[in-house]
Amino acid sequence: MKVIVPLAGHAHVLGLTGSPGVGKSTVTTALVRHYREQGLRVGVLAVDPSSPFSGGALLGDRIRMQDHATDQDVFIRSMASRGHLGGLSWATPQALRILDAAGFDVVLIETVGVGQAEVEIAALADTSLVVVAPGLGDSVQAAKAGILEIADIFVVNKSDRPGAHDVVRDIRNMLALASYATGDWRPPIVGTTASTNEGIADLAAAIEKHRGWLSDSALLAERRTARARDEISAIALAGLRERAGGLPGESRLGELAARVAAHELDPYTAADELISG
Ligand code: GDP
Repeated sequence: MKVIVPLAGHAHVLGLTGSPGVGKSTVTTALVRHYREQGLRVGVLAVDPSSPFSGGALLGDRIRMQDHATDQDVFIRSMASRGHLGGLSWATPQALRILDAAGFDVVLIETVGVGQAEVEIAALADTSLVVVAPGLGDSVQAAKAGILEIADIFVVNKSDRPGAHDVVRDIRNMLALASYATGDWRPPIVGTTASTNEGIADLAAAIEKHRGWLSDSALLAERRTARARDEISAIALAGLRERAGGLPGESRLGELAARVAAHELDPYTAADELISG
């Protein structure tokens, strides 16, 4: 990974998040098609933080089965929590970096829902899309819970369905309550019917506009610093977890625990020793 780091840093990373059924994988497929038409190479990471098994795999497989199965310039990988030491906050940035270093121009990270893990993963993106759709209960209310601060673009998918205008109006009202300083990015609302490709070119244009704004603003450096901070702590915590793991009799933690139990050491000093190695 240390060798790969200098090769990365060129891809535009797009995050897509939203409740199940809003059309994330359909929007992803349509965006992949759009970028392929422009000759760009596209990577997709379908991440499901909620599932120890693989809802994410199903999502990725579903896309893989469709249009891009034989395209060498499209790479799709699904990731679930199972089997990743330190969880997805540890594994996802690495998968992202490998795709970036491998020369993919655009990398899409798809996540389900609006929990903290999703917000963390979405924070890996340069541009975050929050996808909502009519007819799925109060999707905007769901989107409010933590997602508002990360949304760079709102995608109202299923614009062909009744209620799409109401969803747009609700988001517009919600955004009207937010306060923006001059020069701040104001999230646009883009209507799409991903199943027929309608609005996808507009969405790609909004993404491009955000990318341009980002490279002109100090925010890009700020985001990259925040991301680096998260990554360093994830790597360090994974290292600590590894040190604290293992068989009770063999690990460093086991050794320290035995000394604390025998009153040779206090737990505070033991914790310091565990951290400092
Ligand atoms: P995800 O769970 O968010 O990834 O949602 P999917 O992409 O699997 O889409 C859920 C369902 O909505 C599928 O049956 C899609 O065919 C359908 N769908 C996706 N986009 C649209 C759209 O724009 N209009 C309509 N009417 N249906 C759509």
